[in-house]
Amino acid sequence: MIYLDNAATTKPCDEAKAAVMKGLEVFGNPSSLHRAGLDAELLVSDAREIIADALGVTPDEVYFTSGATESNNTAIFGAYKAHGKRKKRVVISSVEHPAVKNPAQELEDMGCEVIRISPDENGEINARDIFAAVNEDTFLVSCMLVNNENGYILPVEKAFSMIKKKYPQVLTHCDCVQGFMKIPVKAKKLNADMISLSGHKIYAPKGIGALYVKKGVHIPPFMLGGGQEKGFRSGTESVPLICGFGAAVKKLAPNVSANFEKAADIQAYLIEKCNENGDVFVNSRKGGSPYVTSIAVNGLKSEVLLHYLEKREIYVSSGSACSKGHQSYVLKAMGLSDDLINSSIRVSFCRSNTKEDVEKLVLEINNAIDNLIKV
Ligand code: PLP
Repeated sequence: MIYLDNAATTKPCDEAKAAVMKGLEVFGNPSSLHRAGLDAELLVSDAREIIADALGVTPDEVYFTSGATESNNTAIFGAYKAHGKRKKRVVISSVEHPAVKNPAQELEDMGCEVIRISPDENGEINARDIFAAVNEDTFLVSCMLVNNENGYILPVEKAFSMIKKKYPQVLTHCDCVQGFMKIPVKAKKLNADMISLSGHKIYAPKGIGALYVKKGVHIPPFMLGGGQEKGFRSGTESVPLICGFGAAVKKLAPNVSANFEKAADIQAYLIEKCNENGDVFVNSRKGGSPYVTSIAVNGLKSEVLLHYLEKREIYVSSGSACSKGHQSYVLKAMGLSDDLINSSIRVSFCRSNTKEDVEKLVLEINNAIDNLIKV
């Protein structure tokens, strides 16, 4: 099998699997006051330290959640609960993942004014446009770092730094799911008050994520209950999944640049090969994440190509896994024609993909063009 759908999810690494097993064996409740509880709590705090270190923050600024969807909801509704009575404006990009787009829509339905920043005529989202949308009535700006459908890198650092200079009280949130452990992500450099992370995109299990909340930023909890995670996120911590998340980050952290170079190398090869065939278009822009590439095959619907490849044991995605059956609003916002959007597939790499994988993919795409179009 050639798995090229790593933006949807990744295969857990051996270190994460072993850590999950350890977390299952150390079965105490981290909140219990006895030894079994303390042992579990120690595993949780080890993982928290690893993740905090990778983000360049302190462990008490990291809260475990069930994944980035929960982290995004916590950040957005938390910002609203903290400031939404006095201020009304929220600024997001028009290419956010549904886990930001839909909470923002809910805020709009509740009476907030949501400004969505779209790419300009060159397909670029400008930091200046994000900044210009912020005013005294704004309480939150949420902007993703790397787009999950085409790898586009948004100018978060620049936008947030401009915003913080003029409006220090505005909360800045960044969905870093497709960037963390793939490109350098440091909370301070990003000027982000809150950052959402997900485990399963970086070789940890599904169902675990984190939200970084900068010290001094006060937003109310999203989940109420037993007061775990210092009262910020109630619910017994999933010790095994937290251990898996920590182990995956520990394994990846020293290799972010080396893995990036490798991904850049195979992405360049993929683009070169695609450009050799006049029927294949590369939708992704230059300078994006090397891990995610959107391509379109003239005259072949995404699903048809996806299943053709699947029969040959090559797994890609049509658009993003979260937008099954719907035309991609991200590719639309990026200015692609309906024909290109309907023919787009997403190829997303992990650290172990190779040029041979790309060669086989391109060979089968070319075969699909010959067998399904040119018959
Ligand atoms: N944000 C982005 C950019 C994503 O790609 C995803 C997953 O596809 C999510 C959020 C949701 O993450 P999770 O599956 O951990 O809820």
